[in-house]
Formats: sequence, C-alpha cells, structure tokens
Amino acid sequence: MVRHLSFKNELELNNYLKNKIPLHAYYSSAYYKFPNAEDMDSKEWIGADLVFDIDADHIPTPCKDEHDKWTCLDCGYSSTGMAPESCPKCKSKRIKAETWLCEQCLDVAKNETFKLIDEFLVADFGISIHEMSINFSGHRGYHVHVYSEVVRKLSQDARREITDYIRGIGFSPKIYGFTGRDLIENPLDLADPGWRGRLARGIYDFISRADLSDFKKLSIRSRTAKKIIENRDLILKSLESNPPIWPSISGISMKTWSKIAQYVVKVQGSHIDERVTTDIKRLMRLPETLHGKTGFKVKSLSYNELENFDPLVDAVVFRRGEVKVHVHECPELTINNETYGPYNNEDVIIPLALAVYLLCKGAAEIIEES
Ligand SMILES: [Zn+2]
Ligand SMILES: [Zn+2]
Repeated sequence: MVRHLSFKNELELNNYLKNKIPLHAYYSSAYYKFPNAEDMDSKEWIGADLVFDIDADHIPTPCKDEHDKWTCLDCGYSSTGMAPESCPKCKSKRIKAETWLCEQCLDVAKNETFKLIDEFLVADFGISIHEMSINFSGHRGYHVHVYSEVVRKLSQDARREITDYIRGIGFSPKIYGFTGRDLIENPLDLADPGWRGRLARGIYDFISRADLSDFKKLSIRSRTAKKIIENRDLILKSLESNPPIWPSISGISMKTWSKIAQYVVKVQGSHIDERVTTDIKRLMRLPETLHGKTGFKVKSLSYNELENFDPLVDAVVFRRGEVKVHVHECPELTINNETYGPYNNEDVIIPLALAVYLLCKGAAEIIEES
C-alpha cells in the first residue's frame, strides 16, 4: 500500500498512475489541510463527503445459490449462496466468500441505488442530484458520493443517524401510530413524505399481492390472514381514498398491522453498507480506474446514464482479442451480451475481457504457447 499521496492536478495524478500502474487505486472521502502528511493527526481533517456503498454482496438475491459459494476457514464447512455473518456450524466469523458477477445481482444493486437517491437523498434529505456523483464500483455495486457543503462537517454519530434512517433501523411502530386509535384518527397517506408514506405504500403493496404463506412468514395466524385476504379490496380502497381512511376491520388488530409494518420497513429501507457511510475518512475506489479484482472500469455515471447502464457491457475495457487460458472453475458468465461457461478444469479460448476477469480472480491461468 502506498498512501499519503497528494497531487496538484489531474495531469500529475495521471502521470503517476501511468508510471506506477497500481492494481487498485483509491482516494479519500476526506478533505485535509495537509493530505500528504505521513501521520493522520498532522493531516488536519477539514471534512468529508457523505459516501454510500451499495454492494450485491450484502443484498439477498435468489440467484446467489447458483453462482456464489462460501467456506468457513476454521471448520471447513462450506455451502452455496450468500455468505453468512458467522459459520452456522462453529460460529466462526472467518468466512471466505467466492462471489461472481451476475446480471440479476447487478440489477438489484442498481434498483437499490435508485431507491437510495430518489427516495432518501433527494426526497427526504433535499439533496440535489447535482451535488452527488454516482460510480459503478467495478465489481458488484455502486458508490454514491454526496459532496455538498452541508454534509462535510457531519460527525460519525450524525452519519450513523443517517444510515439508520435509510436502513429503517430502530423503527418504532408506536411512533408511527400502530397502537390504540392513533392510525384511525390520523391514517397513513400514500402521499405522505418520509417513512409515513413509505409505510403506507409498502403496506398497500404487500396487501395487494400477499398470499397465506407470506402472512405465515410474518407469524400472522391463518385465521387473521384469511380475513385480510377476504377484505383485500376494501383495505386497498381505504388506503388509496382521499383523504385516506385506516381500514378498521374486526379481527385484524393493531398488532397484526404492526407486524406487517415491521416487515415493510425491511423491504423499503435501502441496503447500504453502514461501515462505509459512517466512516469520516473512507478510502473509495478512484473513478475511471480499473478494479484490480475484475478488470472492469470504475465508471462515473450521471443520474440519467444510470438507468440504461449495463456494467457487463459498458464497464468492459478490454474489447478486442482472445486469449487461451486454463480455467480452474467458474460458473456461467455473461459479458458483452455473450454467455460463456461454466468451465471446470479446462483449456479454453475466450475473449480478453473475460480472461482478465478470471485471471484477476485467480480462477484461471495463462497458457504459455511453446
Ligand atoms: Zn465453521
Ligand atoms: Zn446473482
């Protein structure tokens, strides 16, 4: 790691990168009076951007069972799918995850990014899209940087409040009226700002499509669930009426509504990595450089570009040529709209971009022509 560098301008930075050709390049989210000072205290922290990391690694997606694996480094237990926080066999936290680029996972990450920007940063916090930048991470997610003056001086605690709000952590059903007659007197409105509206819309969405098994997952008894399904149309009509009316139906208690609300909070919150956002001096990948574990470009995007951005096409840098490699193991992979694999211990001739990706991951080796 080469740290504590500072550059006067883009040209100086570019020249440095061309000379050293680092595997990974990062820059700090923090602003310092003396960025090149060797120890952190002498740098004199001035402030930091508010940064967000959305990574498919932390979002449960069903396709992970097909393409991801994890192994416990202590007891050797391994399984497919998303890596758990700790090993279910021995409770060890030393988990090695093997993750792969996947179209569906990347789509989910993109939707989460839109949710973060539209629902929270713009609608709730009033930050303009002109005060933020969006980057594809070069791997399985997106970074959002808010560089508005307003956020610069925020402390770690303040940043934690923001992450809790966005993730829906510490949600209290009582505060939102899920006790007594509060909701009957002051019902949630689909158009309400903030979490009130999100709750109303989430409950509406859940009621409109939930079946008996969905209610069971929330530990709602089947007698109550049947009652909700029988009254589905009435409930939805009440919620969408103007002004809204809270559907008070005998047999459906506030406790039931509260269980639904708690589930809705989990769905409506955004899957951001709280460690990244609460850090006031986070190292973030430098836009327009290559991600050293994939060979894909860390690409900066405007808000308008995000919608149609396809990382598996638009962040591909090595566009021409083929290479002969020996692949140890990889699942089916799509790159540049072509599908390859799965490969298992075999020699293949593949496009350069895919070869670079597999080589970076240590999943393949170059075959030297004799
Ligand atoms: Zn274990
Ligand atoms: Zn996937």
